[in-house]
Amino acid sequence: GNLVNLVVVSNRVSRASANEPMTGGLAAALLPVVEKSGAIWVGSSGRLREGAQKEPFAEIEALGAGALAMLDLPAAHYEGYYEGFANSALWPALHSRTDLIRTTQDNYQSYREVNSFFARALLKFRKPDTAFWIQDYHFLALGAELRALGVTHPIGFFLHTPWPTRDIFGGVPHHRELVEAMLAYDLIGFQTDGDRDNFLSYVEADLGLEVSGGTVQSRYGAARCAVFPIGIDPAKFAAFAAKSSSHPDVSRLRRSLNGEKLAIGVDRVDYSKGLVNRIEAFDRMLTAQPQLKRSVSLLQIATLSRGNIEAYGDLQNQLAKLVSDVNGRHGEVDWTPIRYLNKGFSQTVLAGLYRTAQVGVVTPLHDGMNLVAKEYVAAQNPVDPGVLVLSKFAGAANELDTALLVNPNDIDGMARTIATALSMPLLERRMRWEAMMTKLRAGTIQEWFSDFVDALDRAHALNDTAA
Ligand code: UDP
Repeated sequence: GNLVNLVVVSNRVSRASANEPMTGGLAAALLPVVEKSGAIWVGSSGRLREGAQKEPFAEIEALGAGALAMLDLPAAHYEGYYEGFANSALWPALHSRTDLIRTTQDNYQSYREVNSFFARALLKFRKPDTAFWIQDYHFLALGAELRALGVTHPIGFFLHTPWPTRDIFGGVPHHRELVEAMLAYDLIGFQTDGDRDNFLSYVEADLGLEVSGGTVQSRYGAARCAVFPIGIDPAKFAAFAAKSSSHPDVSRLRRSLNGEKLAIGVDRVDYSKGLVNRIEAFDRMLTAQPQLKRSVSLLQIATLSRGNIEAYGDLQNQLAKLVSDVNGRHGEVDWTPIRYLNKGFSQTVLAGLYRTAQVGVVTPLHDGMNLVAKEYVAAQNPVDPGVLVLSKFAGAANELDTALLVNPNDIDGMARTIATALSMPLLERRMRWEAMMTKLRAGTIQEWFSDFVDALDRAHALNDTAA
């Protein structure tokens, strides 16, 4: 399709260069495709403004063939929208943790206000042939707000997180209004079949709407629901890994190991990532197989995020304590079992770190996709690839089905699987790795982007004809 007048919207935009860390999977995925496609990427500037609602202000900056538009958000509503509702009601529910929901009516109002603020701000970017592509759970209602302003253009939505079962989504305050608003989109994209099926069963059973062939009929017309598993650029990560092998961080890591093996984990500190279970599994492995001491350590990169929210602060403390406990019990004068870092690395360096590790441990309790799993595979040395230990609850497990799949709730099982990965013979490692690479090459980030935009074109054309 013609991507020139595409307007992509996400909570934050990213300007990260190759030398800076990415803030998360969404930014990492969108930055390269927006740069190439010539789209306009609209999101928050990170600044708040008192009068923002009266007159939206956007700072525009060129980004490759496209542009970034950075909006100052309304000061009175940002916290309620972002921390109060998006990350304290929606995020926990979408990751099946309704026990962690802490929100208020005011938070919900702020969420709706910011969605409506974005809709008004987006009118500035509307041309006759514009298509809008809204990203993620921060903006479930943005399509409906645009329709309320009279926008009849194609509007698509992609959810980067999982969508939980009906009963769990029903635990979100105002769940019904939110899903009804989502039906204003022409196209709703999910990471996996399971996510789409959960959504459709909510729509059918709880809203009593007609669903056929993945399309929902509502007062807005047809909303097509389909699956677009997000990918990476595997060639880029392979090139990064080769290039950064002489980077000081990578060569120091290699030298510090003295032939010892390395397992690596790379996550935001988030309760969905299963970090506590992973560290307990590593602990359990060292207890059950003490001969592994001094022959393997875990490098856990754990970037801090959403620290103002209590559940995140609590988890940060719990992990710091757990890691020091494990190191205290198993450590030796010349050996530390877990290297635990609360800082981020550029994707270039990260690729070199991935390649240095014989095992990648990606064990979320629930994850929309998990790009780290795909990046770990793409960064491996083809003649001597490492082994991916992957949670069956990550979206990535659908494609990376020749990884060693684990249940992150089974600590003993994970402990055994990490040990199996450490001793896997070269032939088996290569067969598993090649099968995974074939999948990664078949579903790159460029394809994800153009498949969605093409499907949005088609979904909107059907609504147009029906009207
Ligand atoms: N990332 C990074 N530097 C770091 C840690 C992570 O650039 O130090 C990037 C990583 O390469 C990946 C993204 O952040 O592209 C994390 O995406 P993922 O889907 O694994 O998790 P999310 O944080 O979106 O839940």
